[in-house]
Amino acid sequence: MINQEEFFKKITSHAKEYGFVFPSSEIYDGLSAVYDYGQNGVELKNNIRQYWWKSMVQYHENIVGVDAAIFMHPTTWKASGHVDAFSDPLIDNKDSKKRYRADVLVEDFIAKIEGKIDKEVAKAQKRFGDAFDEAQFRATNQRVLDNQEKINAINKRFYKALDQNDLADVKLLIEELEIACPVSGSRNWTEVRHFNLMFSTKMGSTADGANEIFLRPETAQGIFVNYLNVQKTGRMKLPFGIAQTGKAFRNEIVARQFIFRMREFEQMEMQFFVRPGDEKQWYEYWKAERMNWMLSLGIPTEKFRFHAHEKLAHYANAAADIEFEFPFGFKELEGIHSRTDFDLGAHQKFSNKKLQYFDPDTNESYIPYVVETSIGLDRMFLAVLSYAYNEEKLEDGSERVVLKLPAVLAPYKAAILPLMKKDGLPEKAREILADLREDFMCHYEEKDAIGKRYRRHDAIGTPYCITIDHQSLEDNTVTMRERDSMQQERVKIDELAAIIRKKIKPVKV
Ligand code: ATP
Repeated sequence: MINQEEFFKKITSHAKEYGFVFPSSEIYDGLSAVYDYGQNGVELKNNIRQYWWKSMVQYHENIVGVDAAIFMHPTTWKASGHVDAFSDPLIDNKDSKKRYRADVLVEDFIAKIEGKIDKEVAKAQKRFGDAFDEAQFRATNQRVLDNQEKINAINKRFYKALDQNDLADVKLLIEELEIACPVSGSRNWTEVRHFNLMFSTKMGSTADGANEIFLRPETAQGIFVNYLNVQKTGRMKLPFGIAQTGKAFRNEIVARQFIFRMREFEQMEMQFFVRPGDEKQWYEYWKAERMNWMLSLGIPTEKFRFHAHEKLAHYANAAADIEFEFPFGFKELEGIHSRTDFDLGAHQKFSNKKLQYFDPDTNESYIPYVVETSIGLDRMFLAVLSYAYNEEKLEDGSERVVLKLPAVLAPYKAAILPLMKKDGLPEKAREILADLREDFMCHYEEKDAIGKRYRRHDAIGTPYCITIDHQSLEDNTVTMRERDSMQQERVKIDELAAIIRKKIKPVKV
């Protein structure tokens, strides 16, 4: 068994070695927390984006898309609250000179206590076997209760301090909990201060008096400022949604963990506009829908969990994350937020433009409420990649690395492999390629022994390897090798497309 840290390192280096993810501008030693997607990465990323877009826009009559600019009028970010409140509490360790997010230090501390509770539960489970009632144990075991109380007390104090902007108390809490710097081991901390995460730049020449503008830290605001345009031109009736994918930028304080936390990343967001009062029902609906989307990829349910927010953002009346079990533990993958009328209300106020909806059913005008689903494309990429990465020992004693990617997301759906580079096999193979690539990304390869070619496609997650041999010339059949089972089957060339199409269908949940 390798430990999780080593496992994560393997994924990172596999991603690089097989053309999925490279450090940005690597020849200059890279740029911290910025990454480029390579030839296979871009396909996987496009496929995730497309899978999301299809499920949101194509499959919902009442959801349409937009593609708003990254640059937005600076007042947008005043109205949204980002200028005043989009900051993280930051703290430095004086000995290691390392910088941390104060909230992350506290969260990690809480995670350790949660770990103790989980251990207690696991121990009891072992002891009691099938008769074990976990809920009852958690509700009655004194050690579990004590630890839970500890967690609650820390949370309460911490969020109160943040709410009241009492950064001195945040520091005091870190000291009282005796949280030490993981690098230096010391508890020699600076004061806690706020750090705004927005990148800014200048628009127009400085001589003309350039305006400071921001690179958008989320795509959502591009949807809100276009709400009325879309509603009117699309003649949309409530409830309806607007979806968008695109780049977002955050000057993250601590940028570790590969593409989990980047300074330039991509979001896939959908804002669903509803009648005030209906938002809780839609919030529950979208929570379930988004979880189903994850499961429709065939990733097991135990890799996901919901985490309800303790502290609600200034705009929300309910919020939960879908967490995924990354190699470094369960962490946020997607947020589902009930944002009330905060955003449209603020934009109406700051722009002096009416952003109301006339409800023909009730003859009333009002600002709609909003339920948002917001997922990081890069985080989903990492989730899929870390789930898919497998090292296997084969019966003949050899080993293979295989990416068991959901077929619909795999960079290539099929590899087209003539067994030999002669006797008309490449020509036959190219005929098959010409036919299949109308519908699917396919990869043609004739170099190296067939076994080697299989391994290369295992390593990038190609679901099918199609081998063309002499028999193919006689009876129009080929060998189709399935990636996960490595089973080979003789199939008719005419049937290939249908088999692949079936394989990339979403799992019914
Ligand atoms: P975190 O708590 O991890 O910083 P967040 O709560 O600030 O995330 P949101 O503002 O809710 O995140 O953004 C929605 C989604 O965008 C997140 O669930 C995540 O998938 C993605 N995301 C946010 N920040 C980053 C980042 N720096 N790099 C990659 N993805 C990100």
